[in-house]
Amino acid sequence: MKIYHQRNKIPSGWQLIETHSHILPVSQCSELEYKELIDIYADNGYSGIFITDHYNVDFEKVNFLESSFYELYADAFEYANKKNISALFGFELKFNPNVSETHQDSEFLVYGADPQFLDKYPYIYNCNTISDGLLTLKKLLFKEYGNSFLIIQAHPNRCKNGIIRNCNVDGIELYNGIEKAFVRLYMKLTFSGSDAHLPEHCCNNAVLLRDWNGTKEDFIHKIKKRQYSIYARALRS
Ligand SMILES: [Zn+2]
Ligand SMILES: [Zn+2]
Repeated sequence: MKIYHQRNKIPSGWQLIETHSHILPVSQCSELEYKELIDIYADNGYSGIFITDHYNVDFEKVNFLESSFYELYADAFEYANKKNISALFGFELKFNPNVSETHQDSEFLVYGADPQFLDKYPYIYNCNTISDGLLTLKKLLFKEYGNSFLIIQAHPNRCKNGIIRNCNVDGIELYNGIEKAFVRLYMKLTFSGSDAHLPEHCCNNAVLLRDWNGTKEDFIHKIKKRQYSIYARALRS
């Protein structure tokens, strides 16, 4: 895996895929409607974008499950199709453990699921400990999607205890927007995502794939085989 810090240095043939973005009304912290978000990425030559809205005890039903979110994502994905970019579903999960823990604030990007997954398991964030929560999450993802999913710790630099060492986590977001996580030794997957909430956040980061067919399954397959590189216009570490 190579890391590119300048777009013009990325060799031709690599496709750019945004792995971390948020839209209204599901993520109330975002100022982006799906059309604006998709327009920006399509105009900037990206091949794909994962929309990874927040999912946790605060966002829960109101934003996610009762705001006809199926329709919202279906509309967004269809709109992206017309713009020749693949928009795909992901979510950013924060657990609500009974036992307070050092990694309490950790958030996890989940790839491979459909919106139906959260409809079927709406209280996935409730757990005794974060370890228990991750184990349950992994079991349910496996039940629904076989091995075709990924759990990536988002911005470990924001959690006061940094990287969570847990066998059910596939990797970390090494670059989140302009920030780089501090990593001493890490053998798992490393990602790069813009965490787009505002227009100026967009297109700073990407995962790079070659010959990607635009599906989440092929994305996960290539990532697991480590056939990817990353782009990070990181300014700070
Ligand atoms: Zn947010
Ligand atoms: Zn986020």
